Amino acid sequence: MLNPPHRYGQDTTQWITVPPQGYGGIQWVAATLIDGLLDAGCEILLVGAPGSAPRPGLTVSGATTFDATRVALREFGPDVVHDHTNGQMLPAEPDWPAVRTHHLNGAPEHRANIVYLSRAQCRAAGSTGAPIIRLPVNPDRYTYRETKADFLLFLGRVSAHKGARQAAAFAQAASLPLRLAGPAWELDYLHGILTDYPSTAEYIGEVGGPCRTDLLADAQALLVLSQPFGGPLGGEWIEPGATVVAEAAVSGTPVIATDNGCLAEIAPQVGTALPAELTPTPEQAAKVLAGLPAPKHLRATAVERWGHHVITAKYLEVYRRAASGGTWV
Ligand code: UDP
Repeated sequence: MLNPPHRYGQDTTQWITVPPQGYGGIQWVAATLIDGLLDAGCEILLVGAPGSAPRPGLTVSGATTFDATRVALREFGPDVVHDHTNGQMLPAEPDWPAVRTHHLNGAPEHRANIVYLSRAQCRAAGSTGAPIIRLPVNPDRYTYRETKADFLLFLGRVSAHKGARQAAAFAQAASLPLRLAGPAWELDYLHGILTDYPSTAEYIGEVGGPCRTDLLADAQALLVLSQPFGGPLGGEWIEPGATVVAEAAVSGTPVIATDNGCLAEIAPQVGTALPAELTPTPEQAAKVLAGLPAPKHLRATAVERWGHHVITAKYLEVYRRAASGGTWV
């Protein structure tokens, strides 16, 4: 399992682990798949996340470079490599059968044996024949609550493409406080929101551990008002997979999303997908909140569609396909 190695914030002594200390979409995907694969009896080498806790069946490599990864893989001798690094840690023609999950926008660096996260992401990459496997969630790692507190939640990087400002506008229209949780790397953007919505938006910083799972379980709803612009690499942003949607749903919390990218495909099952450009009136916000699904339905839907055992079974199928010489683009 190849994870992209990143330092933990400004701390040059630590790497972001699998699962991550705080923000980390790809790290959560790797952790959740590892949960499922260990349950299925696989033996796993995790590369690119030194400091992660080893478990029976899971070995954690210290490798963080392309060359060291190659050495670690040679020693381990995998049947199949699952690359989450967009080619950063694995050459175009690796020595082992490989499956690559595309976590970004646009066309992947290496197109062979890609798995996409949504039809929207797959279409935008120009692929027609590659498998689409949704992002997984392990319900055992989340807290489920039916009684909610009086706030709305934003959980993600506080950036224009993630719609943090739109979340504040929605919360103001709904007359509910908004807790903004996540790293804020664009400080002007954050300060703009706090200045324009002073009595609605509260910034609580990056969260992890029980603080994160409590927020997910206690919120009236999670706001994922992703916008089709301002992507991290510039240009159009098509939301590729959105881990937070399944995380909220297993916690019994509905999702108020936009229709950007994957959200049009997954949000309606556990909430709603509004037009990305909508600035809701108080009446519209109240109507949206009144129409959201109940916690029991949300958890059951998330486990059935995106539960880690369901998604692991789909990956095992593509691993077998790759390991027996299959190729696709
Ligand atoms: N996250 C977190 N703490 C934070 C903000 C986000 O643990 O303060 C997690 C969140 O729960 C999710 C991941 O980081 O698992 C973000 O992944 P997502 O796919 O939603 O967004 P992206 O990877 O596109 O930024």
